[in-house]
Amino acid sequence: MSAANPAPPKAVIGPLSRLWQFVSPHRRTLALALVVLVIAAAAALALPVAVRQMIDLGFSRSNTEHIDRYFLLLFAVAAVLGLFTAARFYLVSWLGERVVADIRSAVYKHVIGMSPAFFEVTRTGEVLSRLTTDTTLIQVVVGTSMSMALRNILLLSGGLVMLAVTSPRLTGYTIGLLLVVVLPIIAFGRKVRKLSRATQDRVADSSALAGEKLNAVSTVQAFTQTRNEAARFGDSVEASFATALRRIRARAALTAIMIVMVFGAIVLVLWLGARAVLDGTMTAGELSQFVLYAVMVASGIGALSEVWGDVQRAAGATERLMELLAAKPDIVAPANPVPLPAPRGEIAIEGVTFRYPSRPDHPSLAGVTIEVHSGETVAVVGPSGAGKSTLFQLLLRFYDPQQGRVLVDGVDIADADPEAVRARIGIVPQDTVIFSADAMENIRYGRAGATDEEVKAAARAAIADEFIERLPEGYRTFLGERGVRLSGGQRQRIAIARAILKNPPILLLDEATSALDAESERQVQAALEYLMQDRTTLVIAHRLATVRKATRIVVMDEGRVVATGTHDALVAGEGLYAKLAALQFGMHAG
Ligand code: ATP
Repeated sequence: MSAANPAPPKAVIGPLSRLWQFVSPHRRTLALALVVLVIAAAAALALPVAVRQMIDLGFSRSNTEHIDRYFLLLFAVAAVLGLFTAARFYLVSWLGERVVADIRSAVYKHVIGMSPAFFEVTRTGEVLSRLTTDTTLIQVVVGTSMSMALRNILLLSGGLVMLAVTSPRLTGYTIGLLLVVVLPIIAFGRKVRKLSRATQDRVADSSALAGEKLNAVSTVQAFTQTRNEAARFGDSVEASFATALRRIRARAALTAIMIVMVFGAIVLVLWLGARAVLDGTMTAGELSQFVLYAVMVASGIGALSEVWGDVQRAAGATERLMELLAAKPDIVAPANPVPLPAPRGEIAIEGVTFRYPSRPDHPSLAGVTIEVHSGETVAVVGPSGAGKSTLFQLLLRFYDPQQGRVLVDGVDIADADPEAVRARIGIVPQDTVIFSADAMENIRYGRAGATDEEVKAAARAAIADEFIERLPEGYRTFLGERGVRLSGGQRQRIAIARAILKNPPILLLDEATSALDAESERQVQAALEYLMQDRTTLVIAHRLATVRKATRIVVMDEGRVVATGTHDALVAGEGLYAKLAALQFGMHAG
């Protein structure tokens, strides 16, 4: 799975520099963190000098009165190091968490406002993975790697200078040894990290597999596929075990090599150093100082190589997130939106031709004109694919038509603020979306800020309260993910209650095609009737009762309006409607 651990991109600086817009609001913290970091690094660099002073001067007999001073100095340097390291950790981690929180919110806010055309080409799973995995990669970089890199560059360069100052000859040997010891360890370490990433990917693969099947567990069981699915999962777990084993072997070898080579190098330098001390060309303190700097330089190189991988991955993550942020919604409010007049509930679709962006050569609507006056109920009927749902998409301004206009209360909705238009429209879809919250919150989705009493009144009007009251915890009952704990008719009544609570002047109603039992059907029908009272309604009709009551019926076929009229007139006409009526409503023409 490439989403979890994508390949590092080539460019690093370019993408990462775009993080600046999120870091710059916290410039002060960043500056403070840098100051603290430099002080901590300086203290770390001073420590070996302090140790040398302590050994060479503190222990020498001629300076007994100074011993306290040198130990105190050593402790003071260590204390500064401790305090400033802690402060650096706090400030830098804060920055990392803050920046990631800001990026997450910004990306979500942007994506949730995107028009449907965007979601036709973007999978939600991908957006989620960018919001979680990619932001975590950035957090590692802003919150750790950058400061680690800076600290280690300071320690490395400072350490090298100090090494040269302490003993140029030993420095030559040490640099040679570093090349021989550290470079192979770094290369080998990379391999181990690659393998550990591969292990994570295998684990992610099996989780994805399990996730999909657990979500559809009843289908798996109904097709008696449990054994097969368990075996498939088993295979995928074994694959991740095999990868893990390769990593463990490499890791074990690395550990052995590392310990032997590092200690070998230290022993060699110490041996050379000890001889220099015996020759009198170096003091014991200088040797200690030298060894400490050498360790600093070696670990600096190791840390930098580790950080580099993180930085590369974060660059890729940043690139993907910024791409998401840069995506432009197709539907935007005009700079100076035309305000809508007082609501009358009038709809006019004037000569609209529309093709979906993904099918530019196939008009889903071709020259459609439909007018619905205040308080009227207009039913739209037509065979599957006629363009009925597309009408709703355009009315809610999820897309703009290529030709013609859509007007709400006399204003072309392309000139108005889409939020203002949508606020006037209530929709009862075929399949109600139930969020994983309780019944109260699910209905309140119709109008945030409605009181509990208003929610209950809407539920009563939608004939939903009788079943909600009978739920184990009444309105506070959790409805389960996607509403699995409700029947089809109950879900529809929740949707109707939402629309009643919203109380919009215009109602778009997509009647469910799925058959309900007679009692449930009667309740849904009664709830709908209440909802449609005194409202302009455009309804995609599947029920005889609905078309009979409609002011007018618009018959659509292949994106065109082919007939308009009342039920009785259209049935008598013996056109497409008569056939549809016979099929859909079980009526026989004539
Ligand atoms: P049904 O009764 O089956 O829901 P419908 O009358 O509501 O059908 P629409 O959903 O409006 O039909 O579809 C009209 C045409 O537009 C169809 O040919 C369909 O394939 C196409 N279409 C619908 N949605 C999209 C989309 N997002 N991208 C491309 N084409 C689409």
